[in-house]
Amino acid sequence: MTLRIPTSEQRFVLEHVVGLRDLITSNVYEHLSEGLADAIIEGAASFAENEFAPLNRLGDTQGAKWAHGQVRMPAGYKEAYASFVENGWATVSAPAGIGGQGLPHIFGSLVFEDIGTANMGFSLISMLTAGAIEALLAHGSEEQMDIWLPKLVTGEWSGTMNLTEPQAGSDVGALRTSATPAGDGLFRINGQKIFITFGDHDLTENIVHLVLARLPDAPGGTKGISLFLVPKFRLDADGAPTIDNHVRCVSIEHKLGIHASPTCVMAFGEDGDCLGELIGAENAGMRAMFTMMNNARINVGGQGVQIAERARQLAHAYARERMQSPRADGSSLGNAVPIVEHPDVRRMLLRMNALTQGARALYYYAAGQIDRAHWGDNQAAARVDLLTPLVKSYCTDVGCEVASLGIQVHGGMGFIEETGAAQHYRDARILPIYEGTNGIQAADLVGRKLAGDRGIALRALLAEIRAEAGDQSNLMILADEVEDVASWMLNRPVNDRLSGSYPFLRMVAVLVSGWLMARQGRIARSMEQDPGANWTFLAGKRAAAAFTGDCIVPEAIGLSASAMVGAALFYGDLTEEALAE
Ligand SMILES: Cc1cc2nc3c(=O)[nH]c(=O)nc-3n(C[C@H](O)[C@H](O)[C@H](O)COP(=O)(O)OP(=O)(O)OC[C@H]3O[C@@H](n4cnc5c(N)ncnc54)[C@H](O)[C@@H]3O)c2cc1C
Repeated sequence: MTLRIPTSEQRFVLEHVVGLRDLITSNVYEHLSEGLADAIIEGAASFAENEFAPLNRLGDTQGAKWAHGQVRMPAGYKEAYASFVENGWATVSAPAGIGGQGLPHIFGSLVFEDIGTANMGFSLISMLTAGAIEALLAHGSEEQMDIWLPKLVTGEWSGTMNLTEPQAGSDVGALRTSATPAGDGLFRINGQKIFITFGDHDLTENIVHLVLARLPDAPGGTKGISLFLVPKFRLDADGAPTIDNHVRCVSIEHKLGIHASPTCVMAFGEDGDCLGELIGAENAGMRAMFTMMNNARINVGGQGVQIAERARQLAHAYARERMQSPRADGSSLGNAVPIVEHPDVRRMLLRMNALTQGARALYYYAAGQIDRAHWGDNQAAARVDLLTPLVKSYCTDVGCEVASLGIQVHGGMGFIEETGAAQHYRDARILPIYEGTNGIQAADLVGRKLAGDRGIALRALLAEIRAEAGDQSNLMILADEVEDVASWMLNRPVNDRLSGSYPFLRMVAVLVSGWLMARQGRIARSMEQDPGANWTFLAGKRAAAAFTGDCIVPEAIGLSASAMVGAALFYGDLTEEALAE
């Protein structure tokens, strides 16, 4: 099936959820206009459809390969990546002063969405690089920015993020990689990192690793972690990456999905001096890393939207071709009809649409708030903080659910690799795990985000939703339930909060995406009378919004009991032995 990037949907959400006109009239972005926005929407879609999408299957079947300490990408990847760089797609939302196009963050998100919908595994190289750029911009010195940023921004060099070690997964504070002063402001890095995305590959001439490590005598836990920039090749007197820095990829993982993304075991300084530069202050590495992780968490949420879109399109195409059984009401006169005509298949297809569009609305809304926060809007900055765990967790859960429904729509053929539905399901499964598992996101929501400000940011969001929700009674009921659960949480011990954190996160995420879908449904209805309106698109939008309000929002209302169940159910006299029975 040929991928079609949903440009009408992107334009609609940009206008009605992000507020494209506000961005244009803000005068923050010198060249931004409706014409330029259209050119980016169309150009990025065409690039992704024609250059990244055709390589998706090969990436899955052939995958990245490791041999003799080096990773090789599948055939065609090098050329496609070079074309991505040459066409300037990496630079869209980077600041103009460092070689970027200076456009709003949301346009960078849109490019990620397109290349990730086309080929999720491959697109990770650029997502990790964007995180490294963000961390350097926020915490690097002028000199570090001058040296490292220009080629990271164009994509000529790629970036990575090195946190995980065998004993330090969710518990980043347990990491042991060491950094010892080596003179001239440099540090000798020693240790091994696991699961490093695009830790090695043959697409760029250098790889800039951002590595968390401990200085001698650093305090224990997260308070003693510092961030280092460790290039694969150090730069010679001419600034060329020619000096081996003893960063080795010692193997890559064999995994369930995203085979086009090499997941590397990295050894630093095992066979010679591996030198790194400190980024930011000593022992302030977690703060710097959070800059990178917050960016990456929202982008991983975007990956949930990408995989859902791809799985959704495949299922719709199949459902219109596969003939099975006459219609139950006899109207097909005993003749078999395409399965899309059967009510339960239609339910699955509309559910896939509603979940995908709701997740996209949440993701774009968060990206739009990031832009407003960049202009100094403090309420938007607080909202981004609150939204980050919602976007990461809910959108990736949606990615898995939609990819699973995609298999169901295909029936037995969905379980067979040739249709491609299985690849989306396998690819989607990493999303709730990496970049902080969804359980860790839920803990972040009820801890730092809710208890941290005693519910102020959440109440501001609720007020905005209630002011707009008006006639949407399900949405109003959900808003009341969210408020009740939040008050309950604020008055309970931490274990009670954590025991209900996951269902609570889903309630809040469905509330926000349901609010944004209801708005889109109203606007779609009002536009249907316009001469020249894209009626098919508007009817689809109206149906997805109605399904969200009538079916998905009530499911979330039903979650309040499990959100307030309390820790006693999981502990008390329930020993670990009894739990395992
Ligand atoms: C394909 C892939 C790519 C990756 N890319 C990178 C990368 O580029 N850079 C990098 O540094 N890392 C990367 N990772 C690592 C990834 O971020 C970790 O796997 C993830 O953070 C979880 O850590 P863990 O696997 O050790 O699981 P664990 O921390 O062992 O967690 C196991 C389970 O316990 C739960 N859990 C653990 N602690 C708590 C707690 N305190 N409260 C509640 N629940 C808890 C988790 O939610 C999870 O369900 C990647 C991993 C994979 C598989």
